[in-house]
Amino acid sequence: MRQTVEDTLRAAIRTIADYPKPGIQFRDITTLLGDARAFRRAVDELVHPFAGQKVDKIAGIEARGFILGGAMAHQLSAGFVPIRKKGKLPHTTVRVAYSLEYGVDEMEMHTDAVRPGERIILVDDLIATGGTAEGAVKLLKQMGADIVAACFVIDLPELGGRAKLEALDVPVRTLIAFDGH
Ligand code: AMP
Repeated sequence: MRQTVEDTLRAAIRTIADYPKPGIQFRDITTLLGDARAFRRAVDELVHPFAGQKVDKIAGIEARGFILGGAMAHQLSAGFVPIRKKGKLPHTTVRVAYSLEYGVDEMEMHTDAVRPGERIILVDDLIATGGTAEGAVKLLKQMGADIVAACFVIDLPELGGRAKLEALDVPVRTLIAFDGH
């Protein structure tokens, strides 16, 4: 019997218990990226709803969002924009603070990376509390982007990230969900 996309992706993701700290089930996508069929299916599935639509750029969140976003950009004939931890980008940037489980961090994007009205898809591997993606949405909106959607391979629905983005009028697409943290 043909495996569903969800089965293929779920089987390709490795779970590491208690990493990086006790109580966290780390969903490791390096095994998915290393599996040619699973990687292709994940990217195909992420871009599927946008085929035939005008998408100017994919914005990827450092670091796993770069890998997925580069492949999506190629497939949609779109550009790619990196959203990085502070201090990594060489040109003039916009910066935003975002909440982590303990404390805050900052992320940046080049000021000339997105022009007002450009249609952008945001991507990362996983959405948990949504704090990281919310920061990225704020940066993109600050530059006048039209955010078509935010896409993630994995959703941790118990942590409420999807609702946080939807409250900012950003449609959210996720491929598979895992229980817990
Ligand atoms: P959040 O800001 O809480 O939505 O966290 C999302 C970011 O943290 C993403 O960049 C994820 O790669 C990473 N992350 C959070 N929780 C996990 C987890 N359980 N497994 C793997 N990565 C995670």
